[in-house]
Amino acid sequence: MPNSMAPVLNSPQSPTREIDASQSTEALIQLRQVSKTYSNGSPALTGISLSVNKGDFLFITGPSGSGKSTLLKLLYGAERPSDGEVLIDRENPARLKGNKLAFLRRRIGVVFQDYKLIPRRTVAENISFVLWAQGYSRGEIQRRLQPALKMVGLVHKADCFPEELSGGEQQRVSIARAIVGTPPILLADEPTGNLDPDNSWQVIKILKKLNQIGITVLVTTHDENLIRMANHPVVQIRGGRLYRER
Ligand code: ADP
Repeated sequence: MPNSMAPVLNSPQSPTREIDASQSTEALIQLRQVSKTYSNGSPALTGISLSVNKGDFLFITGPSGSGKSTLLKLLYGAERPSDGEVLIDRENPARLKGNKLAFLRRRIGVVFQDYKLIPRRTVAENISFVLWAQGYSRGEIQRRLQPALKMVGLVHKADCFPEELSGGEQQRVSIARAIVGTPPILLADEPTGNLDPDNSWQVIKILKKLNQIGITVLVTTHDENLIRMANHPVVQIRGGRLYRER
C-alpha cells in the first residue's frame, strides 16, 4: 500500500489537535478528538484522532477492554461520542436520524466475533435477509447472492443451516451477509476470535480480497500472528488512547 494511502492519526505522544487538512478532504472515515464515556462513568476512549482513506486496510489491536469495539460502534452509529466528531464520508452519524441514518448504515458492513446468524434460516436466507428487508426485488436478491457466496467460497452450502457449518464457515457467511449490499466500508470486530489459526487466516484472506476490490476494511484483533502475516497498517488502543504501531 502506498504511503499516501496509509491512515493518518495522532497519538498522545504527538498530540496535534487537528489532523492534516490535506488528508482530511480525502478521508472516508475521520475521528477528531473523539472521547467516549459510558453512562456508568467509565471512560472507554480518550482524545482519539484517526483518518482512514478510501481503500485502506487497517488493523486495530490492543488488550481486551481497551476500547476497540467502542471505536467500531462509534463508526457504525451504535454509540455516540461523548466528545469530538466522527465523520463517515463527511457525514456525522450522531447528527443523522431516521432514513438518513439508515442509509449511512447501509454503507457500512459489520462482522462480529460471534457471527450473529439466524439459526432457523439457511445460509442463502441469512445473507439475503438484509436485502429483503431493504425492499430489493427477488431477482436483484438472486443476482447479488451468488457473487457474495462465491466470494466466501460457500456456493455449495447455500441451503445449509448455520448449525451444519463449522465456525470458519459461519464467519464466512457473516462476511457474505455484510458485503451483499456492496458497502464501501467493512468493519470486522474480532472476526477471528473464535477460530483456529487456519480458519482465521482464511477469513483474513477474504477480507484482503475484499480490500483489493476497493472496500475499505477495519479489523480489530489481538492476534499478533495474523497481523504479522497480513502485513497491513496497525494502530493500537491502550487504555482508551490510540497509538500507531506500524
Ligand atoms: P475491547 O473491544 O477492546 O475489548 P470495549 O470497547 O468493549 O473494549 O470496552 C472498552 C471499555 O468500555 C471497557 O472498560 C468496557 O467495560 C467499557 N464498556 C464497553 N461497553 C460498555 C457499555 N455498554 N456500558 C458501559 N461500559 C462499557
